[in-house]
Amino acid sequence: MTIDRDPNHLANIDHLPYDVLLHILRILPSRDIAHLLSCCRGLHALVTEESIWRSLSAAYGLTDIIYFGGRSWYIVYTRLLQPYGPMLGLWAGDHAYTGDVLDVRLRIGSTHQRGGIVLGCWRFPSVQPEDLDRPEMPERPMYTPLIHISLPSVAAPHESVQVACCTKPGTTPPHQAYIELFSSTSQSLFLHTRQGRYSHPEFPPPEIQDFVDQLRYPYLPLRESTVVDQGLYLAPNPRGYVVYSAPTSQIKPPAISISCSLGCVNRARAFHGFQDDVPYLPRYYPLRQRALPGVDPATREWHPSSMDGLWLGSHGPHGTECLFFRWDGTLSVLYAWKITGDSNVPRGALSWRANTHDPYPISELPDWIHDNEIPNLTNSRFFGGSGRISARGYLPYHSNEMDIILVVCGADEVRTAWMDSGDVAAYIRHA
Ligand SMILES: [Zn+2]
Repeated sequence: MTIDRDPNHLANIDHLPYDVLLHILRILPSRDIAHLLSCCRGLHALVTEESIWRSLSAAYGLTDIIYFGGRSWYIVYTRLLQPYGPMLGLWAGDHAYTGDVLDVRLRIGSTHQRGGIVLGCWRFPSVQPEDLDRPEMPERPMYTPLIHISLPSVAAPHESVQVACCTKPGTTPPHQAYIELFSSTSQSLFLHTRQGRYSHPEFPPPEIQDFVDQLRYPYLPLRESTVVDQGLYLAPNPRGYVVYSAPTSQIKPPAISISCSLGCVNRARAFHGFQDDVPYLPRYYPLRQRALPGVDPATREWHPSSMDGLWLGSHGPHGTECLFFRWDGTLSVLYAWKITGDSNVPRGALSWRANTHDPYPISELPDWIHDNEIPNLTNSRFFGGSGRISARGYLPYHSNEMDIILVVCGADEVRTAWMDSGDVAAYIRHA
């Protein structure tokens, strides 16, 4: 057999049988398809083959385009879903202290609203003072739309998508929003205080960097991340704590940033209460979502690895926060990393760890754990561990470890009992 190295023959992909071509288009990564069609004249005829584009769109959950202004499946797929569809799902923001969760959803549309893709953030109801006395449960997030990506209301031959701010529909004039993709960076955050300078936890935490799903970046031009060392120019003796940015040895993966021309997207950020001098926008990382089903701890099938994934936890006066549980099989330790945080224990910090190798002896449980409304106590599993508490700012000399007991009381529900303070925190799995 001889190998044909004539480049003209290699280029003739459109000479393949039609069925084979369709199959190739279906299995190709979505972002490569438009390129393939544009570089091969014979393949360009497939633009009118709606069944292909319809089935590719269905992979992103879009099965109906009546609210997309009468466009073809080809236009909806190649202009909207191919570049932005991979973003669908959750993103974790590196905002100092608070972090943030960006939730990117498909909008099918309605008679009042064009279909498209919506970038929204999670907000939790603030905790009322009278609620603090009873064991509180985490709240499910409320969805706040920030940016709407859609095709223009009037179709045009070479149209591109509109990226618009939708934080306050009806009250602010329609205006431009921006989604930008930034390269890897070594930039990190620090805290400048009268007592000294302290590094903020890296984000994503190096121990769980694989939570970043590399396949979910939008198909946008990659912009170079800014390199700054604000540490060189800090004024001495700041009046309060100042958050600033400087490089570290930890390389963070590419990320997106979002903003709008009137600044409302920026103002929708959670507030951490310190002066923030960071000269660039927060970075959001695509969060890998694991679909492991929860397992009843009362059954033999329960295993600590079933705890992996995203959880919502009650954090006292700070309300509900988002955590990423990761079980390390080598060490038999379950780690709870903060995806969102607060001015005491920030995002990126390890909230607690529990040793799952040996159960905590039930006979040694303190009495008050029984009193604290832990459901299903007799069928729960108990493990010893330690958790981190801190005064405001998370300065090293203000934070310390406290013994905890992890109580796995349901397939999708756990408690942590904090031994010195007598507090009980509740966690539920994010569905
Ligand atoms: Zn705006």
